[in-house]
Amino acid sequence: QLSKRLQLVANFVPQKARLADIGSDHAYLPVHLALNGQIEKAIAGEVAKGPFQNASHEIKARKLTNIIEPRLADGLAAIELTDRIDTITIAGMGGTLITEILDQGQAKLSGVKTLILQPNVGEDGLRRWLMEHQYQIIAEKILSEDQQIYEIMVVQPSSQPVTYSEQELQYGPILLQNRTPIFMEKWQQEKQHLEQAVVQMKQAKQLPVKRIAAFEQKINSIEKVLR
Ligand code: SAM
Repeated sequence: QLSKRLQLVANFVPQKARLADIGSDHAYLPVHLALNGQIEKAIAGEVAKGPFQNASHEIKARKLTNIIEPRLADGLAAIELTDRIDTITIAGMGGTLITEILDQGQAKLSGVKTLILQPNVGEDGLRRWLMEHQYQIIAEKILSEDQQIYEIMVVQPSSQPVTYSEQELQYGPILLQNRTPIFMEKWQQEKQHLEQAVVQMKQAKQLPVKRIAAFEQKINSIEKVLR
């Protein structure tokens, strides 16, 4: 049984995908997909020894060694071009780390048709990288699980330049259109955090004027979205 977050990631994996799950930890995602007959092959990539061992153990225990191969490697270095990977999932990490993994692994992205990304924070920087590298966001989801709010984005390479406004980069082009209750809750919470931070900053002896202005600008931007 996958978590709701990983189940939503799994739902976006195309049938018969040749998948690379990067940062796979226990390999729960590829194992679930393989048991459901949803994938042809998977690489479970892990940079850390412990999680790599967890993945190897899980794959063996489920008798899936013919479908899923665990690899100890940093980011997309887990992928060989001969694997003919067409789908990549990267979930449960910061957006900055996901961006670095994609940026450093560009040579491995040539045959990849779909990326399903689930950054825990820093979604805006990731969206900016995707736009600059001509990836289009074709689906976005926002969900809440165990008091945490998560975002998922599905992206595909585009044959044409991709442009998003600053607002779309910040909030997500599709999430912004849908404005679901969870989306509103996320930005309501963020606005409250920023407002509390401003109150605290205003109590300081030496006013951090620039920081306060930057925070107030963010609050303004959120208010426009919440309206
Ligand atoms: N993907 C799973 C999920 O969403 O539940 C596991 C998420 S876990 C919090 C993040 C995993 O990413 C850790 O096991 C960590 O070792 C791995 N990781 C971090 N940086 C990585 C990198 N550069 N390459 C491969 N794996 C990485």
